[in-house]
Amino acid sequence: NTPLHELDPDVAAAVDAELHRQQSTLEMIASENFAPVAVMEAQGSVLTNKYAEGYPGRRYYGGCEHVDVIEQIAIDRIKELFGAEHANVQPHSGAQANAAAMFALLKPGDTIMGLNLAHGGHLTHGMKINFSGKLYNVVAYHVDDATGQVDMAEVERLAKESKPKLIVAGWSAYPRHLDFAAFRRIADEVGAYLMVDMAHFAGLVAAGLHPNPVPHAHVVTTTTHKTLGGPRGGVILSTQELAKKINSAVFPGQQGGPLEHVIAAKAVSFKIAATEEFQERQQRTIDGARILAARLVQDDVTEHGVSVLSGGTDVHLVLVDLRNSQLDGQQAEDRLHEVGITVNRNAVPNDPRPPMVTSGLRIGTPALATRGFQDEDFREVADIIAEALKPTYDTTALSARVSALAGKFPLYPGLK
Ligand code: PLP
Repeated sequence: NTPLHELDPDVAAAVDAELHRQQSTLEMIASENFAPVAVMEAQGSVLTNKYAEGYPGRRYYGGCEHVDVIEQIAIDRIKELFGAEHANVQPHSGAQANAAAMFALLKPGDTIMGLNLAHGGHLTHGMKINFSGKLYNVVAYHVDDATGQVDMAEVERLAKESKPKLIVAGWSAYPRHLDFAAFRRIADEVGAYLMVDMAHFAGLVAAGLHPNPVPHAHVVTTTTHKTLGGPRGGVILSTQELAKKINSAVFPGQQGGPLEHVIAAKAVSFKIAATEEFQERQQRTIDGARILAARLVQDDVTEHGVSVLSGGTDVHLVLVDLRNSQLDGQQAEDRLHEVGITVNRNAVPNDPRPPMVTSGLRIGTPALATRGFQDEDFREVADIIAEALKPTYDTTALSARVSALAGKFPLYPGLK
C-alpha cells in the first residue's frame, strides 16, 4: 500500500506536472473536459479489481452482486437521460462503441456512408486505414464548400446510388446541427440503418440544447468524456429490437471484461448530466463558442485571411479556416500553445496543406465552461485568440492575460 509518490516518483512527477499544466493553461481542445472529482474517485476505486464478463444478472464470474447494481444504475440513468429503449455502457471508448455497433449491424464488405474525415467525420466513420475503411465499402459524403454545411442533396444522391446498409450521421469537427429526420428519411428510402455518433454533442443533447438523435436513429453511439464531462469511455443506445445484437457485439463480440470502475464513473456523470447546474454549464459552453466565432469574423482578424467555417456555430466548437492566411494550422496551434491556450489543428474541407500541417484550428469551449467561465471571460479568451492569430501578436502580454484567466478559475483546488 505504498503511495504512488514513494513507489514510483517518475510517474508521480509526470502526473503532478500534468495537473499543473491543466491548472495553469486554458484547455480548448473541443473533445476534452474536466471530470468532476467524484467521477475520478469512482474510477480510481476498488472496482478496478473486478472481472464481470457478461451483463447485470448474467455474469460469467462470481462476486458480481455489487458491480451489477452499479452497471444497472448506469444503464437506467443514461436511458432516462436520452429517452433510449436500450443502453450498453460497456464499450471502452467511442471507437469501440462504433466498432461494436457496426459489428452488430453489418457484415464485412457491406457499404456504409459517413462524413469524410477532412470534412469533419471521425476515423471510425470510414477512414481508409481505420477498421471501418478496411472492413466495409465506404461511400463518403461531404460539406458544401459554399455553406460549410453537410450537403443533404449529396447524401440522398449517394444513398440512392450506393444503397448502403448503414448511414452514419455524426462528426468530430462540424459546427452546426445535423438534420436527423432527413437522414432517417433517406435511410428508410434505401433500406439502411441510421447510426448517429453523438460523441461530441451528447452533453448538449442531455441539456436539451441540441436536437436529440435518439428518436430518429436505430443506434446512437457516444463517448462519455467530451461535452458529457464524464470518464473516458463509450456507450451504445439503441431500440429494444436491436438490444440483443448490440449486447452480443460488445461482449463477446468485441470485448472481454467490462471496466466496472469506469462504468461506475459513467453512472456518476449521468447523474450530474441530469442536473440544472449541468444544463446551465452547457448553455455557457454554447454561448462561449458563439462569442468566439463572432470575435473571429471581425475585420481586424479577417484582414489576415482568418475566417470561421460556416460563419459561426450552434455547438461547443468553432472551426477556424486558415486557407487564405499566411499562418497554417500547425503554426497557429503552436502560437496559441506559446501563450498558454491548448487547441488542435484540423484539416478543413478541400485543405490545400498536408494533413500534418492543415489549414484549420478546432477550438472548443466545454472545458472552460466547466471551469466556470462566463460570457465576459469568453469575450476575453476570444480577444486573446484573435490577437494571437495576427502577425503583430505579443506573446508576453497575451500569456499574462491567459494566466490571469486561469488564476480566476482555480481547477481542482483540493488536489495538490
Ligand atoms: N466518435 C467521434 C465523433 C469522435 O469525435 C471520437 C473521438 O474523438 C470518437 C468517436 C472516438 O472516441 P474515443 O477516442 O473514445 O475512441
